Amino acid sequence: MSNDIKNAAPAPASTPVSNFLRAIIDADIEKNTYQRPGLPPVLTRFPPEPNGYLHIGHAKSICLNFGLARDYAGRCHLRFDDTNPEKEDQEYVDTIMDSVQWLGFDWNNNGVEHLHYASDYFDQLYAMAEALISAGHAYVDSQSAEDMATNRGNFNTPGTNSPFRNRPAAQSLDLFRRMKAGQFKDGEHIVRAKIDMASPNMNMRDPAIYRIRHAHHHRTGDAWCIYPMYDYTHPLSDAIEHITHSICTLEFQDHRPFYDWILERCAEAGFFQQPVPHQYEFARLNLTYVITSKRKLRELVETKVVDGWDDPRMPTIVGIRRRGYTPEAIQLFCERIGVTRSDGWIDYSTLEGCLREDLDPKAPRATAVLRPLKLIIDNFPEDETVECTAPVHPHFPERGLRTFPISRELWIEQEDFMEVPSKGYFRLYPPIGDIAGNKVRLRYGYVVECTGCDKDADGNIIAVHCNYFSDSKSGTEGSANYKVKGNIHWVSVAGALEAEVRLYDRLFTDANPDAGGKDFKIALNPNSREVVKAYLEPGMSAAMADERFQFERHGYFVADRVDSVAGRPVFNRVTTLKDGWGK
Ligand code: ATP
Ligand code: MG
Repeated sequence: MSNDIKNAAPAPASTPVSNFLRAIIDADIEKNTYQRPGLPPVLTRFPPEPNGYLHIGHAKSICLNFGLARDYAGRCHLRFDDTNPEKEDQEYVDTIMDSVQWLGFDWNNNGVEHLHYASDYFDQLYAMAEALISAGHAYVDSQSAEDMATNRGNFNTPGTNSPFRNRPAAQSLDLFRRMKAGQFKDGEHIVRAKIDMASPNMNMRDPAIYRIRHAHHHRTGDAWCIYPMYDYTHPLSDAIEHITHSICTLEFQDHRPFYDWILERCAEAGFFQQPVPHQYEFARLNLTYVITSKRKLRELVETKVVDGWDDPRMPTIVGIRRRGYTPEAIQLFCERIGVTRSDGWIDYSTLEGCLREDLDPKAPRATAVLRPLKLIIDNFPEDETVECTAPVHPHFPERGLRTFPISRELWIEQEDFMEVPSKGYFRLYPPIGDIAGNKVRLRYGYVVECTGCDKDADGNIIAVHCNYFSDSKSGTEGSANYKVKGNIHWVSVAGALEAEVRLYDRLFTDANPDAGGKDFKIALNPNSREVVKAYLEPGMSAAMADERFQFERHGYFVADRVDSVAGRPVFNRVTTLKDGWGK
């Protein structure tokens, strides 16, 4: 599996910052809490449900679980919590594996694959449920769904025992076996743990552990018509896999008493040895301007607000990958934000800062004119072409030079010319009265002096004219004689690569688009994507899918991995050069 993805980044051996989880693990190692033959003292897992695509929030959990295993020479399992057959699919299993590997992590440990599925444990989970029923710790409830809901009570009122709660264990067992044999319809019976209907914790009021679902499962097919509940399956899967530290988000804190209860009962019944796994909770990632709810992301896809799960505006791993983010930037981000036990919001600029930090030293430079306007050098000989050179990367001369031609007609940015310059404008403008037209340097080329412009019948500027100074070429002695304030980029019309460039912006205009139950679709940014026809320096025709560049003055761009074809790349703007997100 791991060889399928060539770009997977090796997980860095970081100098980890301590946090409450590391403190717990350090203490467990010190006390030898989990010393078991043949098993590492730290065993974590990342347990997605294969019902959607992973997003940046999951990346935090992945970096945390796999990162702890890496740093403590332990092991991390990838486990699919696949107990909801109607919602799950192989498509999601595949993309989740792909995303975890792309992020730079691996469930292969010393040559052994630790890829697991809760559905692999269905037989064991069933056996444990039978044992719980026999021991009087669980029963088959035959109330209607409505009665069950009413009798559960609420936060202020204790629940009421089901009339079936004290039915003989043998009767429950018989019903359970018949549930499994397919003798009942969905919802006719349910298996519940027998705990305490008056518990202040609603999760302890005889939670359901098995339900009837006549549904096809993406892995077990039609072998089962009863499926274990998530809260039952999760701790038991952890114990089956010898997980030590079961790390999840804070909303599961109230589920921890049941997690402990079920493991204790099953350990008593001889299914597990002490010490059993322990659950720890951390604050989920909330990122400004971003939605991290699978359900809402699915809505964006299904209502075609975006072009799919991998739309470059989506916070899914496949989306940010296509957008041009690097796994290293995401790892850096996850390290930098750390883990805490209190909820908060992380500013989007933190993520972009990590991205720029990672891309700046890596990305080769290139020239792109995004909003083209023609510049004609009237005194440049027609049919003549002069070669110009520029560094691939200004801070790493060893990466060499790139070359591109200059000729009589060039493309420049529309904003680099003003017919009537505003105060302080020092790029191209024509002579005004007896003030000469302005001089600028064409970056890596010559100094030119603006002489005027052409307009169409509607008064739109369609070309700018200038003269050049033939002894002013960058890199020659003469260039020192010219002192100009403006320095603009350009691409020669002859040889320019015409390319589609997609300029992405935030998908939402509200920093907390779904906070407090708001309708997140109201805050959609209508201008989250702008597509332009750009002109690029000729060498860019060789750009390969997923290759990233800094287009000077514009930001970082990546050759789109889906729409680029050989010789005709399409570019996505990954991010601008400067922070436009911070407050
Ligand atoms: P669902 O709403 O479908 O349950 P989920 O986002 O909880 O979605 P899971 O597949 O259950 O998805 O998540 C896998 C793991 O990722 C869980 O351990 C979960 O706690 C963690 N996780 C999910 N969202 C975030 C987040 N925003 N920040 C950190 N961890 C997260
Ligand atoms: Mg979940």
